[in-house]
Amino acid sequence: MIHFLNLQELNRLYLDEIQDAVSQVISSGYYIGGPVNERFETALSSYLGVPHVVGVSNGLDALTLIFLAYIELGRLRPGDEVIVPANTYVASLLAVSRAGLVPVPVEPARDTLNLDSTLIEDAVTGRTRAIMPVHLYGRTCWDATLVDTVRRHNLLVVEDNAQGLGSISTVPGLDGVSCHTGSLGDAAALSFYPTKNLGALGDAGAVATRDALLASTVRAIANYGSDRRYHNIFRGLNCRLDPIQAAVLSVKLPFLDRDNDRRRAIAARYRDRLSNSDISLAMPDDLSTTNFHQLVALSPDRDALRRHLDLRGIGTDIHYAVPPHRQPCYAAELSRYSLPVTDYLADHVVSLPIAPYLTDAEVDTVIDSLNNFILPR
Ligand SMILES: *Cc1c(COP(=O)(O)O)cnc(C)c1O
Repeated sequence: MIHFLNLQELNRLYLDEIQDAVSQVISSGYYIGGPVNERFETALSSYLGVPHVVGVSNGLDALTLIFLAYIELGRLRPGDEVIVPANTYVASLLAVSRAGLVPVPVEPARDTLNLDSTLIEDAVTGRTRAIMPVHLYGRTCWDATLVDTVRRHNLLVVEDNAQGLGSISTVPGLDGVSCHTGSLGDAAALSFYPTKNLGALGDAGAVATRDALLASTVRAIANYGSDRRYHNIFRGLNCRLDPIQAAVLSVKLPFLDRDNDRRRAIAARYRDRLSNSDISLAMPDDLSTTNFHQLVALSPDRDALRRHLDLRGIGTDIHYAVPPHRQPCYAAELSRYSLPVTDYLADHVVSLPIAPYLTDAEVDTVIDSLNNFILPR
């Protein structure tokens, strides 16, 4: 049996250190905020090369807080349009909507499955103020066309880096030097949902930015809108990072690059050994530009392929079977958009096992089963 993803297996390697770190939090008495959170924020800040990191409750809250902070700072106004990829997890759009902004979906490119940068220009209207590149499946969504369009229209760039931690861009970020996804735009949201490449043992997230004022505004909004004790400058929320999760993440962060390298090696094995012309793998030539959060394959009969693998004890998943514009909650707002590439992907993608703990032999078992697949006629 090869599970799509086994979370116990994923954390087994770090179990002793995690248990020690959690015990230390328990005996420290700091159950909200405190030095363990600061240590994690500092470590993540130096990993990303971004001066300000604010630990928060989860990835959706991280995105929402960024937009709410820009509104408090007068950089965005309710009703402003935000360009979002049509092919993404629904949370990307939920954050935009929750902040009172309007998501405008743009189709992915068929080869990258990510936002097609050549289509951004046409989606810009007089009310467009921001864009959200999503490094979906971990694949860097950043190129010269995107940067050029963003500059010409003076758009704020909020990266959804929930899936991309550890991916690298060959085109520098807005500051002209940054290369890590999560450091390329004006602000970035990260998620440490347990299945992400850096996963907590529960919900956790972070905001990263070079903008000190944005960071302090996010921190205040996430803490009841309070800038110091019993002094509330915003009508805020409670979206703080749990120090137990911060402790877990501090244990795992040093191993993130090693895990991502293992994912890349597994992906290269799939690429080199797959010989079935009815299955194609979506991956970039330069493997450093993705952390392989997901390894996505496409097949004319995705469901038959999933059944074939399932019969052989191989787990798969779909990211995502129902795109945001097809969700009931967005039916009224987004059904007027025609998004055929996104619809096509929803029916044809399948995510294959790529967890870093997989052995070469296990990966070969999956590849053999892929190669044995015969498309039903
Ligand atoms: C996981 C994810 C989120 C939300 O993160 P949570 O921590 O689960 O709230 C947002 N966007 C994308 C692309 C994600 O994959």
